Amino acid sequence: RAAHGELPAEIWEKVKKHPCYSEGAHHHYARMHVAVAPACNIQCNYCNRKYDCANESRPGVVSEKLTPEQAVKKVLAVATIIPQTTVLGIAGPGDPLANPEKTFKTFDLVAKAAPDIKLCLSTNGLALPDYVDTIAKSKIEHVTITINTIDPEIGAKIYPWIFFSHRRYVGIDAARILTDRQLQGLEMLSERGILCKVNSVMIPHINDHHLVEVNKAVKSRGAFLHNIMPLISAPEYGTVFGLNGQRGPTAQALKALQDACEGGVNMMRHCRQCRADAVGLVGADRGSEFNIDRVMKMD
Ligand code: SF4
Ligand code: SF4
Repeated sequence: RAAHGELPAEIWEKVKKHPCYSEGAHHHYARMHVAVAPACNIQCNYCNRKYDCANESRPGVVSEKLTPEQAVKKVLAVATIIPQTTVLGIAGPGDPLANPEKTFKTFDLVAKAAPDIKLCLSTNGLALPDYVDTIAKSKIEHVTITINTIDPEIGAKIYPWIFFSHRRYVGIDAARILTDRQLQGLEMLSERGILCKVNSVMIPHINDHHLVEVNKAVKSRGAFLHNIMPLISAPEYGTVFGLNGQRGPTAQALKALQDACEGGVNMMRHCRQCRADAVGLVGADRGSEFNIDRVMKMD
């Protein structure tokens, strides 16, 4: 039975209070991120490790790194002061599944201390197939996977290396492993009924036209939502980020691509690319009110 538009009731139940999954919820419910995951197992050419994972947040913003115990204290403080907080996301600053102990310990502590808060995980997907069972056993209802391409030749231009199974891979080999693992992880999560959002960073001349193919591939593997985000260009990208002064797409090009994907997976158009320690309503960040020194002094 459809509870909202064409969504089955059990899916609507999961998305109606998640601001990243429902445009309506975006204005009324708040999410927060805790930055407990510093390490990453791949290199994206658009990433500068000094800053937060650009997959789920605005690059160039440094978040304070927390222990799981500090993170749960912060979650409780935020949930008291901003009662519309319905979702806790772990999205960085590196890859949450490259820091599995900290990530799952934080989720576990929060599930016990604040059982009403929905848990959300964001990952580049490389380690995902190894953790699908752990995710399914935990209370995590939402997973975001960043998939920028399904073509290893394009992937080689975006990812200089990955670290997998105790060794480093480069070039097309690296990109092929990453793509296979991302798609496999997506399929495994969908089979277990975990809602998946796919993020793609639109990089002009590299993957922009190809993202229509990505949209089809993730749809066929059960993705619920596709969020195509523009590459945010920064002056230092040319040297630090390895994309040779690459500019982000124009707003028109982004919209044209989103329109071209209509009819595939639901397009997310309300994303504002929050920071990895974002707090509060999307677009109205209150993270600076909750730095950990202040939080630790709160009762
Ligand atoms: Fe950076 Fe995130 Fe890519 Fe890792 S997955 S290299 S943290 S953008
Ligand atoms: Fe939203 Fe992504 Fe954070 Fe989840 S991880 S709350 S989808 S921004």
